[in-house]
Amino acid sequence: MTNTSYPASYYAASANPVPARPALQDDVETDVCVIGAGYTGLSSALFLLENGFKVTVLEAAKVGFGASGRNGGQIVNSYSRDIDVIERSVGPQQAQLLGNMAFEGGRIIRERVAKYQIQCDLKDGGVFAALTAKQMGHLESQKRLWERFGHTQLELLDQRRIREVVACDEYVGGMLDMSGGHIHPLNLALGEAAAVESLGGVIYEQSPAVRIERGASPVVHTPQGKVRAKFIIVAGNAYLGNLVPELAAKSMPCGTQVIATEPLGDELARSLLPQDYCVEDCNYLLDYYRLTGDKRLIFGGGVVYGARDPANIEAIIRPKMLKALPQLKDVKIDYAWTGNFLLTLSRLPQVGRLGDNIYYSQGCSGHGVTYTHLAGKVLAEALRGQAERFDAFADLPHYPFPGGQLLGTPLAAMGAWYYGLRDKLGF
Ligand SMILES: Cc1cc2nc3c(=O)[nH]c(=O)nc-3n(C[C@H](O)[C@H](O)[C@H](O)COP(=O)(O)OP(=O)(O)OC[C@H]3O[C@@H](n4cnc5c(N)ncnc54)[C@H](O)[C@@H]3O)c2cc1C
Repeated sequence: MTNTSYPASYYAASANPVPARPALQDDVETDVCVIGAGYTGLSSALFLLENGFKVTVLEAAKVGFGASGRNGGQIVNSYSRDIDVIERSVGPQQAQLLGNMAFEGGRIIRERVAKYQIQCDLKDGGVFAALTAKQMGHLESQKRLWERFGHTQLELLDQRRIREVVACDEYVGGMLDMSGGHIHPLNLALGEAAAVESLGGVIYEQSPAVRIERGASPVVHTPQGKVRAKFIIVAGNAYLGNLVPELAAKSMPCGTQVIATEPLGDELARSLLPQDYCVEDCNYLLDYYRLTGDKRLIFGGGVVYGARDPANIEAIIRPKMLKALPQLKDVKIDYAWTGNFLLTLSRLPQVGRLGDNIYYSQGCSGHGVTYTHLAGKVLAEALRGQAERFDAFADLPHYPFPGGQLLGTPLAAMGAWYYGLRDKLGF
């Protein structure tokens, strides 16, 4: 990793003040060494500290430097794969456990925000918007399916009702999840890091783990120090590189981009999203948007390989925004940035243990804000010896990308192109 400052995003520009955190320059001992201070690492650290573990977090750059400080801020429950598809692959018992947990991440975020008084513009309510009758039929069957798992809070919206919650003429209907919602993602991560420190956890920034010495008492090396631990949690996700070669083969970092408009003013903002819900459409390569605390529109869409500079990002994402919300044609884009999420072939998270003491969770393939919070809890449970829920994730089958990471990126891009075409043709 070369550049370790935050990208010039709206989130970095509106981040709550934070203390400077040192780089590790000593040899330290701890119960658990967490690698990566995104939501997976911070959520794990918090649950472990609350359960009496001593925790040291190593972050290569800064807290929330990765996807956790750059994402669309949408609290979307469940997984990047439908639960009936999961059920067909793993059977009813494991699917039941996974289905029971599917809406827990959103609850964990709310508990964290309340308990540690995190200022992150939390708002309730997320809408899945259907662009076609077929997508609406899919939402209807999803609602029935979730009710089977006891999740009864979902509400279908017909064409008239969805028009009352989002001023977009493209939608034929939708589904409202009041257990969804949105947050300022970087401020959530920064608040969780402060909570970690309030419980005695230690976070080192600018401290990449460069080598793991495996064994009964593993040691994580950084350029200037090392951490000896009873357990290690690997939470570097799409930014991990090849630190743990076993993990790299079955996952693929993908770039995705977000833009933020200038502040819209109360009237325009309310005319677009009167209840301040967030919206994502039902395409495979989906578009998603929401208002910020200061009434900008944050819009993200699709997966684009190689878009790096802000002008390039704006050129790709702004037309998508104007297609959904042409009302914004005269509005200026103030920020454009990119971030990496980690894709797996099944689009399900990759969770497990290497040897007795190295745990990992990564690769939730796009919908990660809630899952990563759940992952922290499930990993902490496993370290305490309660592995039933951990095993439900760890037993999910995973396969290497055809062509590996070198060839796999163009193949994943081709896959994205294929699904984009499917979206356009409506099948
Ligand atoms: C642009 C974008 C928009 C998204 N929008 C949404 C959304 O609206 N809703 C949603 O649910 N999901 C969204 N996602 C996905 C979601 O943000 C991620 O799934 C989630 O944040 C992943 O969290 P994480 O902690 O696993 O990884 P990250 O947040 O990427 O954190 C990994 C951290 O590990 C550090 N690290 C890596 N290697 C090392 C090392 N060797 N040593 C020390 N530290 C290391 C990195 O610097 C980084 O800080 C989006 C993702 C992106 C990129």
